[in-house]
Amino acid sequence: MKFVFADSMDYVDPRYDFAGDQHGEARKPYWDDQFPHEILGYAPYDGMLVSRAIVGDHRFPGKYTEPQAMRFRRDGARKFLRFDGPRYADKMIMGDCGAFSYSKMSRPPYGPDDTVEFYGDGRFTHGLSIDHIVFEFDPNARGLAGGSQESRDRFEITLELAEAFLKSSKALGPRFTPIGVVQGWSPESMAKAARSLIAMGYRYLAIGGLVPLKTDAIHQAVSAVDEAISTHSDARIHLLGFAKADEIGEFERYRVASFDTTSPLLRAFKDARRNYYLPDRHGRMHYYTAIRIPQALENAKLKRQVQTGRLDQEELERMERAALGAVRAFDRGQGDLDTALDRVIEYSRPLHWSPTATQASLDKRMETLRSQYRRTLNDRPWKACGCPICKDVSVEVILFRGSNRNKRRGIHNLAIYEKHLKALDLR
Ligand SMILES: [Zn+2]
Repeated sequence: MKFVFADSMDYVDPRYDFAGDQHGEARKPYWDDQFPHEILGYAPYDGMLVSRAIVGDHRFPGKYTEPQAMRFRRDGARKFLRFDGPRYADKMIMGDCGAFSYSKMSRPPYGPDDTVEFYGDGRFTHGLSIDHIVFEFDPNARGLAGGSQESRDRFEITLELAEAFLKSSKALGPRFTPIGVVQGWSPESMAKAARSLIAMGYRYLAIGGLVPLKTDAIHQAVSAVDEAISTHSDARIHLLGFAKADEIGEFERYRVASFDTTSPLLRAFKDARRNYYLPDRHGRMHYYTAIRIPQALENAKLKRQVQTGRLDQEELERMERAALGAVRAFDRGQGDLDTALDRVIEYSRPLHWSPTATQASLDKRMETLRSQYRRTLNDRPWKACGCPICKDVSVEVILFRGSNRNKRRGIHNLAIYEKHLKALDLR
């Protein structure tokens, strides 16, 4: 099973100065920054996925600047992502349209010909047909029954665009593999879509709309598609936007050839509690909470409290320095755990304060946080991790503070995730 990392310009500054919280001197964003495979020195994935909506164009701006989008289309995805050269020659470069970004529109803003042009310019090895997300999921709907009018329209639009896209994609030649996207409101409607795509000539199908689904529902959807394509021995499945990355082992029983996810990276700064993970000697995964010590001058919540006079700016900065200092001293073996926790919690109080919260609820919150942080600091997982990130930045990787630490923690998670896949024998 191939693990494809969905990139959205997730790079870090290799010369970032953590003590002074500054970028390397005269750093040029993107040019001096490093993607996960650059800073780790190897790719912890089998390919990268780039969404057309993330690159953007004149009609539909994305995350790339205009010169970046132009360079992407001129030089191709591999060169742009610095994912080129002989050792990455067999890695997949997968493209999709980024259906989530236009999900509120009645029709996708892209057509088959301009999408084929985008895939051609980017020199993608694999490209998904243009799809429109169906948000509804009814496991009990039979045949083509059930489903709102909107879901049915999106189902039809997705198939109609897939048929036109497959025809247009012939222009890209045999080195390009078109992937047909399945969208549906029930396992049976998804099976129907899969059979239609196979009849059109697709042999690689991507199952979309999985992001909000629970694991049980994902099994129902994948199982229905798997069954529907069983008549063709060369047919295979890609799981699109697979957010339940830790549960991928359960999907080995189906004909899943690949999946894409960003979740190991995202959990570093989006998950409420499980931001960093590391397996023990027995392969059991342990999850840790990153320690929030935001920059006092940049945190919106803290700044507001300074503006309204509730907090004193200098006092806040003193607390920030004390928290950082105590955690770093603990990491060096020069300070004790309780002092570090005291300083961090002292700085956490204003961070969790709100005009409506009672003293008791804030105390309770601090107690929970303290026990989560105690576990993180006490176990010092970054000392046990051998990845280039943890070796290089030590305790900074566990601090929830700015993009250079948060994304580094995400890249550590990607490295760990790859090892986890290898241990499961999935890669
Ligand atoms: Zn690490």
